[in-house]
Amino acid sequence: VLREDYSAERYIEEILAGNRTFLARAVTLVESTRHDHQLKAQQILEGCLPYSGHSMRVGITGVPGAGKSTSIDAFGMHLIKQGHKLAVLAIDPSSEISKGSILGDKTRMERLSREERAFIRPSASSSSLGGVARKTRETIILCEAAGFDTVFVETVGVGQSETAVHSMVDFFLLIQLAGTGDELQGIKRGIMEMADGIIINKADGDNVDKARLAAQHFRNALQLFPATESGWEPKVMTYSGLKGIGIKEIFDMIDEYRQTTKESGYFDYNRRRQEKWWMYETVNEELRRSFYDNEQVKQLQETVEREVLENRITPFVGAGRLLEAFYQSLK
Ligand code: GDP
Repeated sequence: VLREDYSAERYIEEILAGNRTFLARAVTLVESTRHDHQLKAQQILEGCLPYSGHSMRVGITGVPGAGKSTSIDAFGMHLIKQGHKLAVLAIDPSSEISKGSILGDKTRMERLSREERAFIRPSASSSSLGGVARKTRETIILCEAAGFDTVFVETVGVGQSETAVHSMVDFFLLIQLAGTGDELQGIKRGIMEMADGIIINKADGDNVDKARLAAQHFRNALQLFPATESGWEPKVMTYSGLKGIGIKEIFDMIDEYRQTTKESGYFDYNRRRQEKWWMYETVNEELRRSFYDNEQVKQLQETVEREVLENRITPFVGAGRLLEAFYQSLK
């Protein structure tokens, strides 16, 4: 059992030495809302930052039942056999609303959860998706400093959580299933546009042909999309997470992506752009939070809202009044 009072220096030292207990404990500090925990977490993060950045960060999404846990278990075992160290993080959009999660916990990845070379951490919970995402983004830094060379960030699709994951990974994988031929209908265009690879799971047994057909549909659909900024043409593949078929090919694809985008400079450009995005995203979140938590704003809010609803003032005048109250309170 760890005592509360290890110094940030000690945490950093142990994390850099690959100590998983300290890593897990540091993630807990990152996730904590307590002020002293947050201060220590920020110190630890600062100490780890120079040793971070060297992993391949892969986002993985798919609807419930698509086979995310089965696949991640199989992908992870594949990577570990090749000598990699893998961290699996999750962003669960439901953790914002209820305490129950869609993604469940680590017992879903049975083989992987027994591996020394894997670190599995369920989603943080927070009052906002932005909060969950930020904690995951910070946890990536800790995992990389602890020597994990591959990081998976898993989420389940409700648009916004995919955008959050996309903003912190190098490669975005979309898991799909073969359906009745209209598999493209339910997918938001925005999510397909984010994908660097679309992988059709459950291509085993009687399902192989259907999966191949679905892959062809996706390939056709992708052709109609504009060229990506990275210059990478998103690939579509079939595989079976359960039977372990086609997994090497998926990671060959990710290696190829890494190699070509490193050479073109896109890989590092995208990382820098993401850092900038996170800075402004955090500013936005903080501003929003301090505005809505502000006592003066809260006092005025109901009256102003009623005036807007009764058409007595325009929404813009209403917004102006609330902002004015906020600015005045800062003086
Ligand atoms: P998740 O909700 O996306 O995490 O999906 P799960 O990994 O829990 O898988 C949902 C169901 O699909 C489970 O019953 C799995 O056994 C099954 N499944 C997952 N991958 C495959 C596969 O490659 N082939 C087949 N036949 N079934 C699979």
